[in-house]
Amino acid sequence: MNNKAGKSDFIREIIKKDIKERKNEGRVLTRFPPEPNGYLHIGHAKSICINFGLAEEFNGKCNIRFDDTNPTKEEAEYVESIKRDIRWLGFNWGNREYYASDYFEKLYDYAVDLIKKEVAYVCELSAEKIRQYRGTLKKPGKNSPYRDRSVAENLNLFKEMRKGKYSNGSKVLRAKIDMSSPNLNMRDPVIYRILHSSHHRTGDKWCIYPTYDWAHGQSDSIEGITHSICTLEFEDHRPLYNWFIEQLGIHHPRQIEFARLNLTYTVLSKRKLLELVNNRFVNGWDDPRMPTISGIRRRGYTPEAIRNFCNEIGISKAESTVDIALLEHFVREDLNRRAPRVMGVINPLKVIIDNYPADKTEELTAVNNPEDLSAGTRKIPFSKAIYIEKDDFMENPPKKFYRLAPGREVRLRYAYFLKCTGISKDKDGNIIELHCTYDPSTKGGDAPDGRKVKATLHWVSVQHSIPAEVRLYDHLFKNENPLELEEGHDFKENINPDSLNILRDCRLEPSLAVAKPGETYQFERLGYFCVDPDSTEEIKVFNRTVTLKDRWLKIKKSGI
Ligand code: ATP
Ligand code: MG
Repeated sequence: MNNKAGKSDFIREIIKKDIKERKNEGRVLTRFPPEPNGYLHIGHAKSICINFGLAEEFNGKCNIRFDDTNPTKEEAEYVESIKRDIRWLGFNWGNREYYASDYFEKLYDYAVDLIKKEVAYVCELSAEKIRQYRGTLKKPGKNSPYRDRSVAENLNLFKEMRKGKYSNGSKVLRAKIDMSSPNLNMRDPVIYRILHSSHHRTGDKWCIYPTYDWAHGQSDSIEGITHSICTLEFEDHRPLYNWFIEQLGIHHPRQIEFARLNLTYTVLSKRKLLELVNNRFVNGWDDPRMPTISGIRRRGYTPEAIRNFCNEIGISKAESTVDIALLEHFVREDLNRRAPRVMGVINPLKVIIDNYPADKTEELTAVNNPEDLSAGTRKIPFSKAIYIEKDDFMENPPKKFYRLAPGREVRLRYAYFLKCTGISKDKDGNIIELHCTYDPSTKGGDAPDGRKVKATLHWVSVQHSIPAEVRLYDHLFKNENPLELEEGHDFKENINPDSLNILRDCRLEPSLAVAKPGETYQFERLGYFCVDPDSTEEIKVFNRTVTLKDRWLKIKKSGI
């Protein structure tokens, strides 16, 4: 079976083979296991699309499991946001919503099993000492002096740890494996630590918590996961996860690693994103400049665009960085199909049409979406005073500027030919407004005498237009790889100071008066814009989702 973009990959090949060999009775059960310590980002979307996508393709199921083993960093707010984001992406976990914290009792029992098998012990070395004893890649580790405690003593101490007899950090439970293993993860890893902290779900029931390494594989096993798909950094943990499962003699999921998504101009790490939020470099997790699902949703990206992007990039074992232009390409492709076209002027310049009657208003017909004629047409009012874009006029145009200039004629979209006859300036020489004439015989945009113009401008009627604030975005980081840092520098120094540009005096065609937060429109010639929830009765706020210029198509054409 291939993914939606028609591709197969090494994970699909493994699953096909497992099904053919009737492994797990041919069953496929995957899971998406976020740690609820931040909002999901576009990298997580890749993992979600893989796990839910594989389940859909192979007639299987996908669980969602919150790996909530760290009470000090986790919050219910994150759990809710994660569920909202997965649903929004279009995936459904039915009633298969699980929490590692549901398994705390079972994980405790498993730990007791390991103690009884003499492969786990209570250690009283400090965290610092444990690190020193661990050794390095070049140097074997050293056994802890507590390694040879009796089963009875270990059982008793572990029970007392659970009861709250000891302070944070004074003792840990460790697996007894091999302090000289070439794999550092196998050098007696800590599996329980004392943390006198409330947990968002278990409250104060526990004061010892399993480590991620101890909880993760066993949680997969408890749920009967068949294919435990994770990112490459867990490759070195696989021997440890296998060791735990073998010691316990429980269901053995197959772990498969893939390369995580990296994007140019983007940071994908919850810890770093949290830093941006806490230090107010952005206005929250859902700031439209953030690579979080909630940020790009607010920006106007669609779930379809994200899923198409994830299908296109596929799955591999090789680390690489994807050009963000590819993601934007899929956003444009999707919005091109669905976004209604409208006219909005974001840097208004007033134009008085001298030969147009002062008291007249015409209703002109405009096409809602040339890509989808079933979207129909609408009326837009035209009158003596209109706004055009400041950029669409130059008093002294250079050679290749074809738009409006003194004495020159252009087309007003869906309206008439317009010719510039005069400029009004203030005493400092700034242009206040233009004077123009229109040609009544060109209604609809064509001249009966066949004369041509070189430019078509968008416009709105002054008296009929509605006010709007428009927020234009650029990459949040200046550098293609924001994490490539010189010694002693912080990634936040790479933040782009011009990533947000707010335009407060924009004017839009009146049909947008009913636009609702979350809806996306194409402002002709300017890009796609999504209504922001900050909009009020008085003023609409729009986020520019993307411009119309598709850098990806250019890259593709040039064959790079
Ligand atoms: P971060 O590095 O952003 O903190 P994480 O790996 O710690 O991410 P988890 O909540 O543990 O975050 O991730 C849940 C799942 O999403 C994991 O299976 C993880 O491998 C996967 N994942 C996280 N980041 C990416 C990424 N950039 N590309 C693909 N998958 C990712
Ligand atoms: Mg993680």
